[in-house]
Amino acid sequence: VMAAETTVVEYLRRGMLEVPDRVAIICGDRTLTYAELGRSAAGLARRLAGSGIEGRVVAVVMPNGPELSVAIFAAWLAGAQVALINPLFTDRESRLLLQRSEATVVLTSSAGAGQAAEALGLEVIQVGESALESWRHDETLTICADQVPAPDRLATMMFTGGTTGVPKGVDHTHRTLMGTVLGMESSWPTRPGREVWLNVAPSFHIWGLLMGILNPVFGQATVVLSQGFKPDAVAAAIRDHGVTVFGGGPAEIYAGLLSSPHTTRAAMSTLRVCPGGGSRFSAALHERWLARTGVEIREAYGMTELAPIACNRWDLPTRAGSVGLPAVGVEIRVVDPEEHARRAAVGESGEIQVRAAHMTIGYHHPEPGDGAFVDGWLNTGDIGYLDADGYLFIVDRKKDMIIVGGFNVYPREIDETLCKYPGITEAATVGVPDDRRGERPVSFIVTEPEVDSSALADYCTQNLAHYKQPREIRVLAQLPKTPANKVDRLTLRRMATDG
Ligand code: ATP
Ligand code: MG
Repeated sequence: VMAAETTVVEYLRRGMLEVPDRVAIICGDRTLTYAELGRSAAGLARRLAGSGIEGRVVAVVMPNGPELSVAIFAAWLAGAQVALINPLFTDRESRLLLQRSEATVVLTSSAGAGQAAEALGLEVIQVGESALESWRHDETLTICADQVPAPDRLATMMFTGGTTGVPKGVDHTHRTLMGTVLGMESSWPTRPGREVWLNVAPSFHIWGLLMGILNPVFGQATVVLSQGFKPDAVAAAIRDHGVTVFGGGPAEIYAGLLSSPHTTRAAMSTLRVCPGGGSRFSAALHERWLARTGVEIREAYGMTELAPIACNRWDLPTRAGSVGLPAVGVEIRVVDPEEHARRAAVGESGEIQVRAAHMTIGYHHPEPGDGAFVDGWLNTGDIGYLDADGYLFIVDRKKDMIIVGGFNVYPREIDETLCKYPGITEAATVGVPDDRRGERPVSFIVTEPEVDSSALADYCTQNLAHYKQPREIRVLAQLPKTPANKVDRLTLRRMATDG
């Protein structure tokens, strides 16, 4: 699986030749066939060739949509590495990442992102609907075999979720990306040419890149792209387009969809697989999704550094609470969080380390403290344990651990407990500095309908040891999210500390 000698660009070339009239992308009321996607990418690539970007970095700052898919393939055809940047970033954030990326050219579809780039003196190319209109019908545009990049060429620079601080730039080659595409296919083979995908995850993040662009093109499938995440609209789109593969993403996406009355068994009846990953899935969420839709969430574990798959053996039996066995080509071990040389015993929690052929070739200009690679092993910063058969259980992130009066408390356990309480749909607990105990847990919950706070306090007393009990439970209409749709714990910590 790992010796992937083709790249996804080659699959676009084949799609153009073999299924030119098949719809590749549906986005709102716009559609693009494989021929049109390929021609548009070739058209933009020709334009880019004039900017001398071969072997350089092109930043792409766009929301999900045809323009983003076209821009990525065009930059690859022109021999560039693509740095993917969130279009909703503020001017300050965009500047920081543009500088870190060392991009010389910026492709964007909005005026805002262009400002930061122009302030840095970068060349800005607007790629709008009108540009695509002229290329997509131009039958002279095509993709030649010699434009397909070599597997070891740098393909992407993606920034980590920034869940724990400043996002880190992660370099991937065409080979490492292809390794993940094939790894997914081996554990959950799609039917060539017959799937309809729907992607809600932002494609500037690794999960959305796979689900919205790479995997669908590999399988000559149609992908429905959703811009932003509006649960009612997504549920309706799954029904209207007969979606078979829901791209899913973090647990927060599934919790959001469950809040929509449109998420019914009938509307979800065409779904064959619902992959999830990127954040923790509570047992309660798995159960609620299955009961409502009749389809299981297939949980994966991974990270940008692994493009992102570390565990995704959806072909093997699952175990409750586990993310399963390592993916094909991935090795996993658990070590003492302080003394990495000491391996944890079966069932003993420690820091998870991973090693894989499709792992990043490294961070782009690492900062001190940006996860270390030791002998090819990546410290994930996640705490977990392996059972006797090698199934991995994620306990929590190292940085999310709360130390209460000397006891280690993993917020995941508190959140799972809260989510089992009737009416609570989402929960997130953070540690707040406490004069007496070092830290104290403060929980944020989303409920429907309202819950009785004294009954909830009693429930916590009955189900959690004293030091794990939230000292305060606050109800929010929704939890703050990061751009990758994960619970934004940095913001919650600020809210909890500010009172
Ligand atoms: P940063 O590294 O900038 O803090 P991030 O780690 O959130 O951000 P990603 O690479 O998007 O950036 O996310 C990978 C992390 O997501 C993993 O290290 C892990 O903490 C979490 N994660 C992924 N899948 C799961 C899962 N199935 N269960 C629990 N946590 C998961
Ligand atoms: Mg990380």
